[in-house]
Amino acid sequence: MNLDEGRIVKRRSERRGLHFVIAAASIVFAGLAIVGALAVGYALAGFAIISAVALLTLPATEEAGVKSPVALPQHAGEPLDALVAGLPDPVIALDRNGRVLAFNGYARSLAPALRHAEPVSLALRMPELIEAVGRAYADGEEQRIEYSERVPLDRWFEVVVVPVKHAIGAARPEFVFMTFHDLTPLRRIDEMRADFVANASHELRTPLAALSGFIDTLRGSARDDAAARDRFLAIMQQQAHRMARLLDDLLSLSRIELNAHRQPDAPVDLVPIVRQVVDGLQMLARDRGVTVQVQAANALIVPGDHDELIRVFENLIENALKYGAAGKRVEITLTQDRSADGSPEACVAVRDFGPGIAPEHLPRLTERFYRVDVRESRAQGGTGLGLALVKHILNRHRGRLSIESKPGAGATFSVFLPASAAAPG
Ligand code: ADP
Repeated sequence: MNLDEGRIVKRRSERRGLHFVIAAASIVFAGLAIVGALAVGYALAGFAIISAVALLTLPATEEAGVKSPVALPQHAGEPLDALVAGLPDPVIALDRNGRVLAFNGYARSLAPALRHAEPVSLALRMPELIEAVGRAYADGEEQRIEYSERVPLDRWFEVVVVPVKHAIGAARPEFVFMTFHDLTPLRRIDEMRADFVANASHELRTPLAALSGFIDTLRGSARDDAAARDRFLAIMQQQAHRMARLLDDLLSLSRIELNAHRQPDAPVDLVPIVRQVVDGLQMLARDRGVTVQVQAANALIVPGDHDELIRVFENLIENALKYGAAGKRVEITLTQDRSADGSPEACVAVRDFGPGIAPEHLPRLTERFYRVDVRESRAQGGTGLGLALVKHILNRHRGRLSIESKPGAGATFSVFLPASAAAPG
């Protein structure tokens, strides 16, 4: 017997007891009045007092007019609702006809049309779900199916339909629990992994195809052409260099991701790091006709990983030299600031005066293999992974990257890192 049935039986017996007391009182007082042992007035008063006492001892819930559970579907109501409310996934309890007995807030956000005592098919229009409920009742076995939604966003769920029997050894389930496990994050990771492998193979295949094409040419038509051979070998070297760089970036990305949860803590001064990177890129700067100015405090100490921070500024300054070369000038400013919560923060801004970046590209620039202009990136020896690396390194340092740009007026890439302490200005 379940909780509701128990309560119903108890209330019925209480009501029967009340009727018995009133009937007995009326017989006793009527008898006494008839045989003359009691005046009619006293008999009526005694009868009224006993009836009133019996009525007042009836449980308060009956008097308050609480809905009788008999009128509701068998398991609807508070106990089941309270039970599912505490569960961390969308859960719906259904009777054998597929009518809703109970559901929690997560289920309501998933299917806003859910209503108690109405068929679940009005809120979840998916015949497979209803069939699974039917099977769970018929076989008494748990059912698992996949359920997906397209609107307003793509979402995937695994739905587990569990038949529930109250009484041990009961022949048939009394209701079913339908639980939804959100598979969307897992699906997205799978999609991202597949995209990543497809992009990486495509990036590697392009220089590989160029290399094997030139090898064929050198063994064939250009076999005796010394000038063509030199030209082709130079291109082959460039392509091999690009492949090596791509593999290097891929390995760095996976290493940084593996260590993402460990925040580096060695004290690192950003000023010599930036100067070292600028020195290393002097050749490229001269080649592109760009002058680089660095404005720095005496020291800017952050807890960090020296080599990873070199990688961050190499990528940003090299990009400014490559994509912003038309502006002829790159400015790098290092300052100590305070973050929104008042803690000390180091800021390094790399500003170029080139063509800039259209606003629609800004949010996607740190995605792996995202480029504004793929041909230009390739021509510049880019891998499309530089800013993704920057983002991951900064995440590991609990820092952030901000990108500001107005097309035609250049771009500013600013790195913010939590600073160790107030550094000497
Ligand atoms: P890549 O290897 O292609 O340089 P990145 O991840 O470093 O890859 O940069 C992604 C894209 O962002 C580049 O291909 C380029 O289109 C754009 N970009 C980066 N820096 C700048 C900049 N300073 N000015 C204009 N575009 C830039």
